[in-house]
Amino acid sequence: MQAKPRIAIAGFQHETNCFGTTKAGLAEFEMADSWPAMLDGDTVIRETRGMNLPIAGFAKAAEEAGMELAPILWCAAEPSAHVTDHAFDTICAKILDGLHAAGPLDGIFLDLHGAMVTESHPDGEGEILRRLRAWAGPGLPIAVSLDLHANISAASVELADYIAIYRTYPHLDMAETGARCVPVLRHLLAGGTLHKAFRQMDYLIPLHAQFTGATPGRELYDALPPLEQAGVLADIALGFTAADFPDTRPSCVAYARTAAAAARAADHIAGLFDRLEAHSDHPMLTPGQAAETACQPRTRKPVVLADVQDNPGAGGTSDTTGLLAALANAGAQDVLMGLFHDPQAAAAAHEAGQGSVFRIALGGRSGAAGDQPFDAEFQVVALGGGSCRYTGEMYGGGTATLGLTAVLKLHGTQAGITLVVTSIRNQCLDLAHFTHIGLDPAAYRTVCVKSTAHFRADFEPIASAVYPVAAPGVFPCDLGTFPYENLHPDVRTIPAKG
Ligand SMILES: [Zn+2]
Repeated sequence: MQAKPRIAIAGFQHETNCFGTTKAGLAEFEMADSWPAMLDGDTVIRETRGMNLPIAGFAKAAEEAGMELAPILWCAAEPSAHVTDHAFDTICAKILDGLHAAGPLDGIFLDLHGAMVTESHPDGEGEILRRLRAWAGPGLPIAVSLDLHANISAASVELADYIAIYRTYPHLDMAETGARCVPVLRHLLAGGTLHKAFRQMDYLIPLHAQFTGATPGRELYDALPPLEQAGVLADIALGFTAADFPDTRPSCVAYARTAAAAARAADHIAGLFDRLEAHSDHPMLTPGQAAETACQPRTRKPVVLADVQDNPGAGGTSDTTGLLAALANAGAQDVLMGLFHDPQAAAAAHEAGQGSVFRIALGGRSGAAGDQPFDAEFQVVALGGGSCRYTGEMYGGGTATLGLTAVLKLHGTQAGITLVVTSIRNQCLDLAHFTHIGLDPAAYRTVCVKSTAHFRADFEPIASAVYPVAAPGVFPCDLGTFPYENLHPDVRTIPAKG
């Protein structure tokens, strides 16, 4: 080892919805959206500094710990259907080229998601690690951070020396998760060993029930600090239900100085999963029930309706209209909705100009059964230039790239509905998505967000109540309706009821 340990850092994140409509090509990884555009070399550190990203947290902690960093590449694409072979092979090759050029290394840190499915590789992260391990050889430590929604394979656990996983959903601890890899790498570089244990669970947890502020997530993650106090580094992934492959399931990893201690910790977590299975689903409203809720007398704070099956952060198209149609039919008043991804509508609004009224068939192009465009007149209330600074805890300090943006008000009907339309897909999880364009969500009776749980960090403080709504979308939260083809035969999509 060199006087100052030299660690290469790279990131390549995608959460793949195998039932989604559009794939992630190279352009999607190169462009900015909810996260920065593709970064390489020194920009990896410079452009992510201070952000809630694993690579930023790792870089800060590593520099503070006296490590020298060799930044290679970082990229992410908004969740969607499969990563194309061209994108995957190109990005893997860029990372390997960067490692070749980096000179002598003592270790590697990788900021990965854990639920990547490519056209040719169902286990995307396993394949990334296989290629990197083949290059690095068995002796070079590789530490990896993964998303709480990772579907972890035995191959990934075998190929990586250490895996750290986010422990919060909304993901408030992404940078912290990266930072947790630093002391482990130091331990390994000092000649220390870590024994591993890995367990996979037998049932899926719907995404909207993975919120870590409630059962079962709260109880599962509460189990980790006591294990850590006992000297075991354990982490839990709740899985990403829309990635259809045999490792799509919750899992846990445990690392300890003895194999027995790691195995005991992993068995303890697996036992907790067994006991919590009957509590691993949460009720959802139908669009009709949501509309009834929106027509109740106003409460002091808004009611937040989460359009959970059209979350772009889970590969949704962010343009479904089921909830909008139900609210419009019910004549709901004082409603704010976002973010609709419809580049044609955003462009038409800009062409029409502020104050004008135009007619368009909004959204509804998801292909999901029961979803259709919403044909109506809209008044252009405000126009936006394309980006905003996040102000919430999850992404605060970062920039959302929204593209052409417009605030539209439904025109010529009884209903009072205002919505924000963008031309780049972003998950509506930060109040700034509304406030940057002159809208105050707290002033509305009802706020509708196309998000599953990330919105809770910023919207719960202004909400009187939060309800998940099951309107048609390409991310069904009722797992019994997913047309799975590749799940492990032991995995239950509907939890056994105690
Ligand atoms: Zn996630």
